[in-house]
Amino acid sequence: MNTDIEKVKVLIIGSGPAGYTAAIYAARAGLNPILYTGGQPGGQLTITTDVENYPGYPNGIMGPEMMEDFRKQAERFGTKVRYGLVTKVDFNSTPHKVIVDEQVEIHAETVLISTGASAKWLGLESEERLNGRGVSACAVCDGFFFKGQDVAIVGAGDTACEEASYLANICSKVYMIVRKDEMRASQIMQKRVMNNPKIEILWNTETQEILGEDEVTGARLINNVTKDVSEIKVSGFFVAIGHEPNTGIFREFINMDESGYIKTIPGSTKTNVEGVFACGDAQDHIYRQAVTAAGTGCMAALDAERYLASLE
Ligand SMILES: Cc1cc2nc3c(=O)[nH]c(=O)nc-3n(C[C@H](O)[C@H](O)[C@H](O)COP(=O)(O)OP(=O)(O)OC[C@H]3O[C@@H](n4cnc5c(N)ncnc54)[C@H](O)[C@@H]3O)c2cc1C
Repeated sequence: MNTDIEKVKVLIIGSGPAGYTAAIYAARAGLNPILYTGGQPGGQLTITTDVENYPGYPNGIMGPEMMEDFRKQAERFGTKVRYGLVTKVDFNSTPHKVIVDEQVEIHAETVLISTGASAKWLGLESEERLNGRGVSACAVCDGFFFKGQDVAIVGAGDTACEEASYLANICSKVYMIVRKDEMRASQIMQKRVMNNPKIEILWNTETQEILGEDEVTGARLINNVTKDVSEIKVSGFFVAIGHEPNTGIFREFINMDESGYIKTIPGSTKTNVEGVFACGDAQDHIYRQAVTAAGTGCMAALDAERYLASLE
């Protein structure tokens, strides 16, 4: 362990839209923020291609390019962006202790958690290969690219039902692939998909392979009961089997829901620990969009600034 302890006013953990937006606001407020990027500099948008729904880009923009813009804007006002993974925290002490890469110790008056969430995947080779080429974990983000086309969605929870209904508004047909003969979703959500003539539910069905060389052309499915193998033709394949918030290292100190999403005080980004704020997908299982993540990143910086002012 490096014995030099660095003292900072604002430490931002994560470099997605939430973290960089928090950095822009904190830096412009003169708080000299330090931001650690984690293992995915730029966050989730670096694994997608076109982003068409972020305001300010009338012609759309590639995800990685957009996140480069975010980084440059944060650095322009003095944010120190560092590559490193926060491996441990101790929020019982004030200031809060944060350990980076198991060796650097930082004492931070405020910590802004913007570590995002990761989509869960089926684990198929074809799914990984075709990710971003027709395979997606976000219907709201990518559904529009399949306007008027046939698509499939895997999942049986409320989110899967909601995304299937969303896709049915845009696409010509939606196959909903459900592993069991029942769904986990609430009755009202189930009814909504079952009553939608554009959605065909394939019960007791699992995906063996997503088909296509450079882009999705279909999927090979197996019926768990009859063991019959069949193929569907689709150009989009959506996976909606849940997300995992990247919040494990904070569990001991921060209140979370049963899935690991950080609980914030409504209308703010405050957590149960004074001086620790959470923004972006790490605390949002509902909207999960770049613009909402950026919005709460702004809130976190303003909340931190006000908290620091209250200590003076
Ligand atoms: C394929 C795909 C396409 C998408 N398309 C769109 C779209 O078109 N429009 C849209 O609005 N949204 C889209 N989204 C959703 C959008 O990407 C997310 O809502 C948004 O990125 C969330 O931002 P965030 O800052 O909360 O977290 P993330 O972007 O998830 O970033 C989290 C950051 O935290 C860092 N991190 C994690 N753990 C640690 C740690 N221990 N220490 C340090 N850093 C850490 C990671 O390295 C990463 O930089 C898409 C998502 C995916 C997966």
